[in-house]
Amino acid sequence: MTQAAASPAGNPLAMERLDLIKTGAFIGGEWVGEPSGATFPVLNPADGSLIVEIADGGADLAKAAADAAAQAFVTWRHTTAKTRSSLLRAWFDLVIKHQDDLARLMAWEMGKPLAEAKGEVAYGAGYLEWFAEEAKRANGDVIPTPIAGRQMLAVREPLGVAAVITPWNFPVAMIARKFGPALAAGCTVVAKPAEDTPLSALALVQLAHEAGVPAGVINIVPASRARTPDIAQAWLDDGRVRKISFTGSTPVGKLLARGSADTLKRLSLELGGDAPFIVFEDADLDVAVDALMKAKFRNAGQACIAANRVLVHDSIYDAFAGKMADAVGRLTVGAAQDGAFDIGPLINQRALDKVERLVAEALAAGARVLVGGARHSSGGAFYQPTVLTDVPDHLRASCEEIFGPVLPLARFKTEDEAVALANDTAFGLAAYFCSKDQARVWRVAGRLEAGMVGINEGAISSEYAPFGGVKESGYGREGSVHGLAEYQSLKYICMGGLG
Ligand code: NAD
Repeated sequence: MTQAAASPAGNPLAMERLDLIKTGAFIGGEWVGEPSGATFPVLNPADGSLIVEIADGGADLAKAAADAAAQAFVTWRHTTAKTRSSLLRAWFDLVIKHQDDLARLMAWEMGKPLAEAKGEVAYGAGYLEWFAEEAKRANGDVIPTPIAGRQMLAVREPLGVAAVITPWNFPVAMIARKFGPALAAGCTVVAKPAEDTPLSALALVQLAHEAGVPAGVINIVPASRARTPDIAQAWLDDGRVRKISFTGSTPVGKLLARGSADTLKRLSLELGGDAPFIVFEDADLDVAVDALMKAKFRNAGQACIAANRVLVHDSIYDAFAGKMADAVGRLTVGAAQDGAFDIGPLINQRALDKVERLVAEALAAGARVLVGGARHSSGGAFYQPTVLTDVPDHLRASCEEIFGPVLPLARFKTEDEAVALANDTAFGLAAYFCSKDQARVWRVAGRLEAGMVGINEGAISSEYAPFGGVKESGYGREGSVHGLAEYQSLKYICMGGLG
């Protein structure tokens, strides 16, 4: 097998290291092509132009990747924590060194503004740095024995081969957030990046290789959406794969949970969100506007923790809606390759169609447009930053993720009503509220059914903090002191006859 031959078309963001654009799968320390020669296109969402054709992996490559990972696990699991830590640190250093190029590549294939892409590379690298440090702190327990002459211990062991499947909206961070703890724990990895944004993930893997991560420890197989189920099935059926870490939509997460049942794999599922954002009557409105702009318009609203439903107290509704309309009206829209804009295109036509449909449904039900409300004149997959007001009651608790730059505002009158509406969803990833009342802050933080709560703050994610959801937003936590345990099992050791 050789790597699929292809070279990138154009270089609109002036990447320096074009050799970071990889077009094959990385298995057992080598870049290889799909045996059938099948490829699929990676497109620039800003104008639909082809970036490059890359290998369209299937079951054969998935199996080869699992073979390589299983073989590498035999030795990788016994490397010292210091070795794993140093390699992760070296990888972190290379990612930071190539921050600009990784950001350019991400902006090219994903469409987010360059400044945001740079921020994401730093944020993603933060997980590599964090888990380089945590690797050395995977302490076990010495348990006080109830029986004389015994010693009782609990030690942490790596689970085995971990299969990682990631979405397109944070193409670097989602990979780093999973590879970092997996490698730190002593697991080896097989991965399938999102079909819309595989190049960022492949470039990261190339840098891991350059950092000295041994052959077989990291394996990655790109695939089109049509071929992805074959890859997933190969890993689900493989008893050597002991862990699935998935970030993506709730329906696919459920498929993977069902498919893992036969081999009882451990699962981390970071799934869809439906974040409420509540503005109470005692909020500082400027703080609330700033928090909501961050919670809604970063990544053109294409974030699992993006504010999806904004509930504003009746007494401040008009003032707040006016301030939001001003702030959203100032957002600039354009392609990363054409300059520094606030909002890029949506990821593809399917995403644009969905946003259009949701806005049409809201307007048909009686909502009004304050700002935006239509496709953007840039064409392609661009949509105008939009504020909808007076979104009717039955849509206030709509559970559908907008995943676009559309902000629906609705009114409430009491704290109980706001909390009930916020919780009236199958999801429970992030929730936000703004208030200056300390008693309310503690009370409402406790009442919201969500894995993460932002209070007077809209940008809450950090490698220092546990990221994850409740309800149908999934289970498992990424980042923080809790993230490593997702890739470890505890072994209890009981020693007797010690006198
Ligand atoms: P998606 O579920 O369609 O795709 C995610 C990944 O799953 C992709 O790699 C895709 O190829 C793969 N996939 C698709 N069908 C599959 C199948 N049958 N078997 C195995 N894998 C399959 O999600 P998306 O639209 O690409 O991403 C957006 C979703 O991800 C949103 O719902 C968003 O909320 C969620 N998300 C969640 C988090 C989080 O941390 N909770 C973070 C980012 C995105």
